Amino acid sequence: MSCIRRLPHALVNQIAAGEVIARPAAVVKELVENALDAGATCIDVTLEEGGKSAIIVQDNGVGMNHEDLTLCVERHTTSKLKDLTRIPTFGFRGEALAALGSVCRMTLTSCLQNASQASRLSVEGGKSSPLEPAPRRQGTCVEVQDLFFATPARLKFLKSTATERAHCEGVFKRLALAHPAIAFRLFEGTRTVLSYKPGEQVARITEVLGNVPQEDLLPIDATEGAWHLSGVLGRPTITQATTEKQFFFANGRAIQDPNCQGALRFAFQELIARHRYPVAVLFLTLPLEEVDVNVHPAKTEVRFQNPRRLRSFLIWALAQTLQQTPMEKGAEGPRLVPLQKVLGVSQTRTTSARERPPRTSSPCLAETQSAFQLPSTPVEPVLSSPSWEAEKLALFEEGAPCPLGHAKGQIRKRYILAETEDALVIVDQHAAHERIIYERTKEEFAQGGVAQQALLLPVTLSFDEDVLELFAEQQTEFFRLGLSYVISNTSSLIVEALPTFLRGADPRSLMQDLAEELQAWGKGFVLSEKFHEVFATLSCHTSIRSGRTLSLNEMESLLRTLEKTVHAGQCNHGRPTYLRIPFAACDKFFAR
Ligand code: ADP
Ligand code: MG
Repeated sequence: MSCIRRLPHALVNQIAAGEVIARPAAVVKELVENALDAGATCIDVTLEEGGKSAIIVQDNGVGMNHEDLTLCVERHTTSKLKDLTRIPTFGFRGEALAALGSVCRMTLTSCLQNASQASRLSVEGGKSSPLEPAPRRQGTCVEVQDLFFATPARLKFLKSTATERAHCEGVFKRLALAHPAIAFRLFEGTRTVLSYKPGEQVARITEVLGNVPQEDLLPIDATEGAWHLSGVLGRPTITQATTEKQFFFANGRAIQDPNCQGALRFAFQELIARHRYPVAVLFLTLPLEEVDVNVHPAKTEVRFQNPRRLRSFLIWALAQTLQQTPMEKGAEGPRLVPLQKVLGVSQTRTTSARERPPRTSSPCLAETQSAFQLPSTPVEPVLSSPSWEAEKLALFEEGAPCPLGHAKGQIRKRYILAETEDALVIVDQHAAHERIIYERTKEEFAQGGVAQQALLLPVTLSFDEDVLELFAEQQTEFFRLGLSYVISNTSSLIVEALPTFLRGADPRSLMQDLAEELQAWGKGFVLSEKFHEVFATLSCHTSIRSGRTLSLNEMESLLRTLEKTVHAGQCNHGRPTYLRIPFAACDKFFAR
C-alpha cells in the first residue's frame, strides 16, 4: 500500500517559504539583497505594522524585462548562479520570490534602464495574473502585502508589531553596514525611521551604531595571507547590556556564527564584566571557496572550511587591536565634557548622543566598589599589615617618558591627580591597581607560581566531601595561584597561605566563595582556562580598597607600573582606570 504522491507546486513553495521567510525581517533581507544584486545605488524600504501588513522595497537597479518578470516568481529560476563553490551574489537559490508569492499578496513593478514603460505583475497565494503596463520608474519595486495570509499556521507565529519592526531594523542595519556606498532609507508608513547617506565605511558604522562616541571605537585592520579583518571594536569601557551592537560579516554577508561570537567573547573576557557585551562591527574577507554560504536557505548561517584558523585569526586580530591602549596610541582617555553640556545649559537642537558625557556602562561599578570598600576584617593575624605592595611596583626611572605624568596629589583617598606636559590626568587608584594585579598575577601564574604569604595561624574549614574532592583535585593549580591548603580528613581543609595580593583577606569567606565556583564547574576543569573567573572571585577579597592614603612615591610608582601594564586603560571589570584632560581643552573651556 503506497500513499506517496508528488506535492503540488503551490504547497512546495509554501513549505520553502517557511525556511526562507520566517518573518517580515527575512522578507526585507531577501528583497534588499535582490536590489543589491541588481546593482541599485539607492534602496528604500517601507514597513507597515512592522512589516506584518506591508513591506515595500524600491530600488534603482537594472530592472527586469517582461520575460524575467514572469519567470522570477517561479521556483528555482535565477539569473545569478554559475558556480556553487564561488558565490559572489547574495541570491543564488532562486526561491525567495517564488516562496514569497505563495504566502502573500505580491506586486512587482519593474523597468529596464532604457525601456519606455514599466510592467507590473501581481501574485496572490502563488497564482500570477497577466502582466500589465505601469508608469515608468527606473528599477524595481516589490510590494508584499498581508504576509502569511495564505498560511494561517505561520501567521500565528508572528510577534508584536514592535518586535517584528525591531527585527526588520536589525536586518536593515546589517545590510546598510555592509554597503556604505549605497543610500538606504527605512520608512514606517510615511515616517522616515532611518536614513543613511552614501559614504565611507567608517561614517556608515558611526551612523548605524548611533550613540557610540567615535573616540571609543578602535579601528581594526588585520591581515594574514588572504584573510583580512576590518571594522571597529568598541573600547571595553563602552559595553552594552545586549549583543544588539555586534555585527559580523563574511565577504560582505551578515552572518551569525558561533566562532565569531566565541572569539569576540574570548578577546574581551579579561576586560569586561560578565553579562556585558562589547560593541563590534567586524568585516571578515576571505577567499570565496573557504566559506560555504549554501548551508541554510536564509544564508545567515555559513560554514567555514577551517573554523580553527578562523578562531585563532580573529582572536589574534582582536587582541592586537585591544592592546593598543590609548596611551600607546597617544589618544585621549574619556573626553572632557564642558560643564554646560553636562548641566544641559546650552543645549540646542539636537543633543546628539555623541556630545553626552561619557558613561561608564559597567553595571559592576557599584558592585565592585562596594565589594572593595567594605573593610575586610582579617580573622587571623597576618605577617604584615595590608600595604600597597610598593616594593613590587616599578621604580621611577629618571628621564624615561611618563605618559601618565607625575603625581601631584590624591583626592578623596580615591583619585591620583597627575600632570603631564600637556594634560591633567586623573587615575582611579583602585581600578588601576586592580588591572596591575590582574596582569601580574596572570603572568606569575603562567610562569610557575604566584607569590604567597603564609598565614600566622592556619585556618581550618569544614566542607562536604564532594567539595573537598574538588579542592583536592585542584590543589596543585591553586598552589600555583598562591593559595596553599591541605586536606586534613574527610571533612576539613586547612588553609596555610594566601596569594600576597590577598594579604589581610578573610580565608573563610574566600574559600567559601571558591567552593561555590568549584561546585558550579564540577570535576576536571582547567584552572588556567578559568583564570579570569577565579581571579575575579579572589580579587573580591582583596584588602586593597580605594579609600587608602598614598604617599607621593607610592602614587608615582603606581603610575609608572600602570604605564607598563597591558590593557592599562580599564580595570578587569571594564571600568576606565584614568581620565586625561588636555590643557588645551581646559584653556578652551576657560576661554583663555
Ligand atoms: P535569487 O535572488 O536567488 O536569484 P529570487 O527569487 O530572490 O532568487 O529572485 C529571482 C530572480 O528575480 C533573480 O535572480 C533576479 O533575476 C530577479 N530579481 C529579483 N529581484 C530583482 C530586482 N530588485 N531587480 C532586478 N531583478 C530582480
Ligand atoms: Mg534573491
